[in-house]
Amino acid sequence: MMNFFSKKGKQDKKSDKKRSDSASGSSSASSASKAVPTKPVLGVPLPVAVANNRCYDDVPLPAVMRTCIDYVEESGLDMEGIYRVSAPISRLDDLERQANLTGRIEFVDAHEAAGLLKRFLRQIPGHILLFGPYVPEDFEKIAETCKCEGDAICRCPAASELKKMLEKAPKEHYHLLAYVFQHALHVIQHEKENKMTLGALGVLLQAMFSVSRNIIKIFMMNAAPASDADPKDAAVYLFSNLPIKSTF
Ligand SMILES: [Zn+2]
Repeated sequence: MMNFFSKKGKQDKKSDKKRSDSASGSSSASSASKAVPTKPVLGVPLPVAVANNRCYDDVPLPAVMRTCIDYVEESGLDMEGIYRVSAPISRLDDLERQANLTGRIEFVDAHEAAGLLKRFLRQIPGHILLFGPYVPEDFEKIAETCKCEGDAICRCPAASELKKMLEKAPKEHYHLLAYVFQHALHVIQHEKENKMTLGALGVLLQAMFSVSRNIIKIFMMNAAPASDADPKDAAVYLFSNLPIKSTF
């Protein structure tokens, strides 16, 4: 009884009467249009989103975010214009509300999943590359030194320098970048089918993360080795230690 107010247990209806942040309970999905989310996922700091929307396997990312990625990986990689074509705004509003109220979502097609992922990423407060001793500008300066050709894998010291810096990231930031950029790489590997190039997807990611094209290029091209990569290839990969784990 002593821990009646403990945050760990299921939230007790009696423990918080404040109207501002307490709805009528927890996760019933229906008749929820006026309900106020008690555990929002979108628009809150990343660690809060993770705590509010835990994954059963303890990967430190919001379950909703992984569901979006899984859905696109499963059924959206070959869809033309994936991440460029928008699902109807009203439908995305519904999905966002559903995610914030219940922590669970169901999609009818991959454009919805892509659209919700974009909304989630756009709404994360603060910069994803602002942590520990670093400000985003530190990453930009290193990325600028890379003169590796066009859209190819970075094979100069910039990649290893960035990798060292990313190792200081909080686990939520690091996992988010690992999942998003490995997923993005999968998307452009299906360019023939989905018509999404590094340029097209990169522009979207630049806007979502407020970073330069250089950063996007290295994070994406050096995310992880392609399945047909030469094992003797000495390129540095930023996230190959954290392959995307499906929640399906
Ligand atoms: Zn380079």
